[in-house]
Amino acid sequence: MALELRPNCELCDKDLPPTAMDARICSYECTFCADCVETKLHNVCPNCGGGLVPRPIRPATEWRQGLSVAKRPPSPRRVHLHYSLEDIAAHSARIRMIEPERR
Ligand SMILES: [Zn+2]
Ligand SMILES: [Zn+2]
Repeated sequence: MALELRPNCELCDKDLPPTAMDARICSYECTFCADCVETKLHNVCPNCGGGLVPRPIRPATEWRQGLSVAKRPPSPRRVHLHYSLEDIAAHSARIRMIEPERR
Protein backbone atom coordinates (compact mmCIF):
# COMPACT_ATOMS: atom_id res chain seq x y z
CA MET A 1 0.00 0.00 0.00
CA ALA A 2 1.36 3.37 -1.02
CA LEU A 3 0.17 6.74 0.21
CA GLU A 4 -2.72 7.94 -1.97
CA LEU A 5 -1.42 11.09 -3.64
CA ARG A 6 -4.66 12.99 -4.20
CA PRO A 7 -4.60 15.53 -7.04
CA ASN A 8 -6.25 18.53 -5.41
CA CYS A 9 -6.99 20.49 -2.25
CA GLU A 10 -10.25 19.07 -0.93
CA LEU A 11 -11.35 22.54 0.19
CA CYS A 12 -10.34 25.06 -2.52
CA ASP A 13 -9.66 22.55 -5.36
CA LYS A 14 -6.13 23.84 -6.03
CA ASP A 15 -4.07 21.37 -8.06
CA LEU A 16 -1.56 19.50 -5.88
CA PRO A 17 0.63 17.38 -8.15
CA PRO A 18 3.09 14.89 -6.62
CA THR A 19 5.83 17.56 -6.62
CA ALA A 20 3.73 20.16 -4.80
CA MET A 21 5.61 21.54 -1.80
CA ASP A 22 2.42 23.00 -0.32
CA ALA A 23 0.41 19.77 -0.07
CA ARG A 24 -0.65 18.82 3.46
CA ILE A 25 -2.16 15.52 4.59
CA CYS A 26 -3.77 13.99 7.67
CA SER A 27 -3.26 10.40 8.81
CA TYR A 28 -6.15 9.31 6.56
CA GLU A 29 -4.58 11.01 3.52
CA CYS A 30 -7.15 13.83 3.44
CA THR A 31 -5.30 16.42 1.36
CA PHE A 32 -5.28 20.22 1.49
CA CYS A 33 -3.10 23.11 0.37
CA ALA A 34 -0.92 24.91 2.92
CA ASP A 35 -2.93 28.11 2.54
CA CYS A 36 -6.21 26.41 3.49
CA VAL A 37 -4.52 24.59 6.39
CA GLU A 38 -3.13 27.85 7.76
CA THR A 39 -5.98 30.29 7.11
CA LYS A 40 -9.16 28.17 7.16
CA LEU A 41 -8.50 24.84 8.86
CA HIS A 42 -5.98 25.97 11.49
CA ASN A 43 -4.31 22.56 11.41
CA VAL A 44 -7.55 20.65 12.03
CA CYS A 45 -8.57 18.11 9.40
CA PRO A 46 -12.23 18.92 8.63
CA ASN A 47 -12.94 15.21 8.22
CA CYS A 48 -11.25 13.45 11.13
CA GLY A 49 -10.15 16.30 13.44
CA GLY A 50 -6.50 15.24 13.35
CA GLY A 51 -3.47 17.36 12.51
CA LEU A 52 -1.97 17.97 9.07
CA VAL A 53 1.64 17.67 7.94
CA PRO A 54 3.60 18.31 4.71
CA ARG A 55 3.07 15.51 2.18
CA PRO A 56 6.36 13.86 1.21
CA ILE A 57 7.51 14.05 -2.40
CA ARG A 58 7.37 10.70 -4.21
CA PRO A 59 10.55 10.46 -6.29
CA ALA A 60 10.30 10.81 -10.06
CA THR A 61 13.49 8.76 -10.40
CA GLU A 62 13.18 5.01 -9.92
CA TRP A 63 16.09 4.79 -7.44
CA ARG A 64 14.85 1.40 -6.31
CA GLN A 65 13.00 -1.00 -8.56
CA GLY A 66 9.27 -0.34 -8.76
CA LEU A 67 9.31 2.78 -6.57
CA SER A 68 8.67 6.04 -8.40
CA VAL A 69 5.81 8.30 -9.45
CA ALA A 70 5.63 6.47 -12.79
CA LYS A 71 5.48 3.03 -11.14
CA ARG A 72 3.12 4.09 -8.32
CA PRO A 73 1.17 6.94 -9.91
CA PRO A 74 -0.92 9.53 -8.05
CA SER A 75 -4.68 9.12 -7.73
CA PRO A 76 -6.63 10.70 -10.61
CA ARG A 77 -9.76 11.08 -8.47
CA ARG A 78 -10.42 14.60 -7.26
CA VAL A 79 -11.91 14.74 -3.75
CA HIS A 80 -14.20 17.46 -2.43
CA LEU A 81 -15.43 18.17 1.09
CA HIS A 82 -19.14 17.85 1.77
CA TYR A 83 -19.20 20.23 4.74
CA SER A 84 -20.22 23.89 4.61
CA LEU A 85 -17.65 26.59 5.41
CA GLU A 86 -19.63 27.39 8.58
CA ASP A 87 -19.47 23.76 9.69
CA ILE A 88 -15.73 23.61 8.98
CA ALA A 89 -15.09 26.80 10.95
CA ALA A 90 -17.05 25.50 13.96
CA HIS A 91 -15.31 22.12 13.79
CA SER A 92 -11.89 23.79 13.71
CA ALA A 93 -12.73 26.23 16.51
CA ARG A 94 -13.84 23.33 18.71
CA ILE A 95 -10.66 21.32 18.19
CA ARG A 96 -7.74 23.56 17.25
CA MET A 97 -6.69 24.56 20.78
CA ILE A 98 -6.11 20.89 21.61
CA GLU A 99 -2.64 19.60 20.71
CA PRO A 100 -2.87 17.00 17.90
CA GLU A 101 -1.51 14.24 20.16
CA ARG A 102 -4.33 14.89 22.64
CA ARG A 103 -7.20 15.01 20.18
ZN1 LIG B 1 -6.81 24.78 -0.53
ZN1 LIG C 1 -8.45 13.58 8.25
